[in-house]
Amino acid sequence: MASRFVTHRLRKIHAFEVQANLLNACNQRCLYCRCPEVKTELMTTKQWRLTIRSLRRWGTLRIKFQGGEPTLRPDFRELCAEAQNLGIITAAVSHGRSIADDPSLLDHLSELVVSWDSPNPETNDMLRGKGAHEGAVRAIDLALDRGIRTYVNMILTRENIEDMEAMLSYCTKRGLKMHAQPVMFDQKSVYGRYFDNTVQRLALPDEQIRLAHTRMAEWKRQGRQLIFSALAYQKAADWPDYGISTIQKQGQSPCMAGKFYIHIEPNGDIHPCGLNESDFTPKNIIRDGLEEAMLHARHHNCWDCWMVYMNERKVVFGLKPEALLEIVRRG
Ligand code: SF4
Ligand code: SF4
Repeated sequence: MASRFVTHRLRKIHAFEVQANLLNACNQRCLYCRCPEVKTELMTTKQWRLTIRSLRRWGTLRIKFQGGEPTLRPDFRELCAEAQNLGIITAAVSHGRSIADDPSLLDHLSELVVSWDSPNPETNDMLRGKGAHEGAVRAIDLALDRGIRTYVNMILTRENIEDMEAMLSYCTKRGLKMHAQPVMFDQKSVYGRYFDNTVQRLALPDEQIRLAHTRMAEWKRQGRQLIFSALAYQKAADWPDYGISTIQKQGQSPCMAGKFYIHIEPNGDIHPCGLNESDFTPKNIIRDGLEEAMLHARHHNCWDCWMVYMNERKVVFGLKPEALLEIVRRG
């Protein structure tokens, strides 16, 4: 991995990390999400396989499949196998229910991120739908049994904000790491399209968003089971105004999104990241070709944001020792 990083670091394109949205469909209906209703064209299996092979040639080290629910694609296993056989780390973000029904979906995964909002079944299923808790816990058990690196991603709302500590205790007992992110995205971002007005009722007030990130930064400094570095959590805690998710300026952005990592939509559009709110118009893998679409994603005017996941990537690819150490610890 290190030698591949160094080799490709000097090339004009180096999408080391790829977030691949395989589809928008989902068989769960979380209160705050309307992703399953967002209609889009889907790249075919053949197109994804060719894309994955080309990405490997451009230096991709890790692909995270997500959606929607990525395991619903009949070719999910095939795409994971394609990537894994090429030496790419394969990760998926899943609610876990399909995996609970069919554990072979884990066959070619190196990492699993389970979307789970509370260790309290009533609270979780109120937010994510009946049976969601059982599916998430079962998927965690199955992934751990297979030695897959397993994480929990919690969407924070007014209904589950009090459950952060309980979730952390659960994760500590099971040897998992967790992350919690507030349900609050600007409607202009790729993800923003997926959240409807119900979010308004569930959204946290600014002071709770700040407090949640301050706590996570503190927990991380204490060596507790958080996924990302204290640096990235602290940046979110220090963000001056959560009403403004990103900052756009004139000229070429110094942000590493689009250069070191990219976001692919189900139809093959390539964005610098899933959150970019600039006036960026993506190019498309099928229409324009992968190389051109990746080169195009390097140029945008989105300079800064407070999303922890994205800021972690900035410190990792900025070669900040704290973030690199975290990667090494994570294996
Ligand atoms: S948040 Fe995830 S699991 Fe829930 S409906 Fe949306 S895509 Fe499905
Ligand atoms: S600053 Fe970079 S990572 Fe953050 S939203 Fe903008 S493009 Fe994405």
